Amino acid sequence: MLPTMRSVILCVVILLCVLQLVAAAEDYYKTLGLDKSASEKDIKRAYRNLSKKFHPDKNPGDDTAREKFVLIAEAYDILSTATTRKIYDQYGHEGIEQHRQGGSAGGRRGGNDPFDLFSRFFGGGGHFGHAPGHRRGPDMELKVGLPLRDFYNGREVSFGVEKQQICDACEGTGSADREVITCDKCQGRGVVIQKHQLAPGMFQQVQMHCDKCGGQGKMVKRPCPVCSGQRVVRKEVETFATIEPGMGKGTRIVFENEADESPDYIAGDLVLILEEREPELAADQEHRTDGTFFRRKGRDLFWKEALSLREAWMGGWTRNITHLDGHVVQVGRSRGQVVQPLAVETVKGEGMPFWSEGHLHESEDEDESPGDLYIEYTVILPDEMESGMEKEFYALWEKWRKKIGVNLDQDSGRPVAPARVVKDEL
Ligand SMILES: [Zn+2]
Ligand SMILES: [Zn+2]
Repeated sequence: MLPTMRSVILCVVILLCVLQLVAAAEDYYKTLGLDKSASEKDIKRAYRNLSKKFHPDKNPGDDTAREKFVLIAEAYDILSTATTRKIYDQYGHEGIEQHRQGGSAGGRRGGNDPFDLFSRFFGGGGHFGHAPGHRRGPDMELKVGLPLRDFYNGREVSFGVEKQQICDACEGTGSADREVITCDKCQGRGVVIQKHQLAPGMFQQVQMHCDKCGGQGKMVKRPCPVCSGQRVVRKEVETFATIEPGMGKGTRIVFENEADESPDYIAGDLVLILEEREPELAADQEHRTDGTFFRRKGRDLFWKEALSLREAWMGGWTRNITHLDGHVVQVGRSRGQVVQPLAVETVKGEGMPFWSEGHLHESEDEDESPGDLYIEYTVILPDEMESGMEKEFYALWEKWRKKIGVNLDQDSGRPVAPARVVKDEL
């Protein structure tokens, strides 16, 4: 081997060692995306999110993700326990190392298997979804009603979901000291064999549910005071979702493995279904724009604008329509431009923003432009006029209809009454 080649390899080896050291020494708070002031709750939430994101089942063949998953578990393990967090805060990684060698930590919860930790959070065997032999819990559906402006602008929403959760206090063991022992009556089988004498010398063997452990095969000496040994508790969990601009009604946002939890199965998915809420006048007053009353159909928006008789006929008007995010769409006609009742004007690109479910582009030339805004005009005729005004208008109509009025009978091709050709309308 050439000496230069050898030194290159040596360098690479050294570099790898250094990288590994750096990786191992990464700040635990940073690993979880937190800072030192993080609360217990923050740490839990960070673990829940990150461990799912980097779980090897979700990133098959990706070694970086796997390392990250292990690191996240390690960081959580240290920071979620008050004693080790204190040591880490004061003495860093070295302190933790010494603490481990002291022997009091290391064996906590039977080792630091990241998959064990994962299963304590999400149930099952530390793996996602559909592995054979793992039961999966039911999915949960939740409907959330949002005003149209949230679909237009996008926003973060948070909402409480009441669900069954693995008891934090006993970490799903049901035991106050987290010790679970095997039932001595059934030796962990959950069933016992009983012999019944049917007749002298004749026995029947019957398999019975073990009454001592209730068929679990396991028992706890002191039940957990928080869940009374049930291993799970029901409580409300705050969940966050991002509504992206242009999302459709009925969009389903899936939170994997966030339905009811149990130590006996892998949690199903929590599915958030977005619905559009009708505008409520009183409640929405603060955020009210014209857009509050837009109607939506797919990517397009619809709006009704009222014009007076004069405006519709004579033109010479403008309207500022305030859109859902507050920007103004101006429409209008110059003098002499007529708008017929029920005429619809299309304002290009003022509909809903384009949104599609990420990578699901089936056809290449899919149109990704925003939708359009359709404005329908209604014309309001005056109910009453002052008598002076009425007279003037009447005289004016009379004058002009005699000159240029149109005979609608003739225009529509109906038979003309003989000897009476009077012009009717302007
Ligand atoms: Zn038993
Ligand atoms: Zn408990």
